[in-house]
Amino acid sequence: MDPVLKSHQYKAQLKRETFIIIKRGTIWATYISCVLAFVVLISRYNFIGDNVEFIELHSKFAPLMTVIISGLAWLKYRTLFLVTMSQTYFYLVLLIMSWCYVLISFALKVGHSMPGLGSLSHVLVFVFSLALFPNRNVMILGILPFLVFSVVYHSFHYPSALIYSIPKILCFLGILISGQKIISGWFFKAVTRSIENKKLLQQFKRLALIDGLTNISNRRHFDDVLTQEIKASLRTLQPLSIIMVDVDFFKPLNDSLGHQVGDKHLTKIAAVLNSALERPRDLVARYGGEEFVIALPDTDLSGAIRVAEKIKLAISDAELHHPSSKVSGYVTVSQGVAQWQEGMVPAQLLEMTDKLLYQAKSSGRDRYCSEHQAL
Ligand code: GH3
Ligand code: MG
Ligand code: MG
Repeated sequence: MDPVLKSHQYKAQLKRETFIIIKRGTIWATYISCVLAFVVLISRYNFIGDNVEFIELHSKFAPLMTVIISGLAWLKYRTLFLVTMSQTYFYLVLLIMSWCYVLISFALKVGHSMPGLGSLSHVLVFVFSLALFPNRNVMILGILPFLVFSVVYHSFHYPSALIYSIPKILCFLGILISGQKIISGWFFKAVTRSIENKKLLQQFKRLALIDGLTNISNRRHFDDVLTQEIKASLRTLQPLSIIMVDVDFFKPLNDSLGHQVGDKHLTKIAAVLNSALERPRDLVARYGGEEFVIALPDTDLSGAIRVAEKIKLAISDAELHHPSSKVSGYVTVSQGVAQWQEGMVPAQLLEMTDKLLYQAKSSGRDRYCSEHQAL
């Protein structure tokens, strides 16, 4: 694959996975915010003197609780995958801003400064850095308001300790950014591995359904498709036909030209059969050795006969040299053509078509035999 395209695919997948983790982190941060808000609220009940203070305390949490409740309702009622990136970031901004409002309104209450306000801002730094770790820039933007609050709050309350508070916050930031680098490294490695595994699985699936020599579907794929198409015909009442194709005198061809030429001829025959089919649901498969089978959904017997004629002509036009054929100087094929009838299982349809193919062989080869002719 083109390396530019490959790296583009990886980047797009990483972006998607990063976003999913950030969305989950946002929901987690919302639940934690809810618990934290209740803990802070209950711990403040001891300091309430009268009703006015009670209302004042709750009003500080009103914006935060509104954001949390509406956020949870919105995230619960919409599938996580339907929530867009910009909606998530908008909600995150609201959540962080409402926490800032709680912190600032407590910090500004003159004479009643709340104990542990600095620790609360540190806890929030911790929560949002964990929630947003896959994207460093988003993480820094998310925790910056709380770090700034912490420095400003400390500098107001302990002006003499300012010289320690700034280096402390810078160390804090340094530890978080370097830690984020390690964790996101693991995360990116896990995502890259899961992309590789998905690709390998697709490749294995493909290999399990494709014939190695001719690069068309194999018998297993055909059997699956035929079962599905029979079910579809039962449901839609549309006709379904199949054609079995066998190369004439292929053993003598191998004996005269060698197995390698025989293999090349088989590959070319598969390509000719494939190009003779026009509808996207038509399927040609290598059914075994030098035998091919074709499924023609939404096609009745007369339509399938037209395809068989087309195949006969296309094979003759391909002019594949065959010195030991008893019917031509070039490769020819015999075909059995049959339409599925209600009540028939796949094995019965294949058996009927095989019998028709045998009739085509025994009546001279280089021809097709269909139900009509057989009747
Ligand atoms: P008929 O006209 O009756 O079909 O005669 P035939 O020789 O084509 O049929 P037969 O069943 O006697 O022989 C089929 C031959 O196809 C046997 C084998 O040598 C050859 N064959 C099967 N698979 C392959 C393959 O993958 N590559 C090559 N080169 N030959 C194959
Ligand atoms: Mg044959
Ligand atoms: Mg055969």
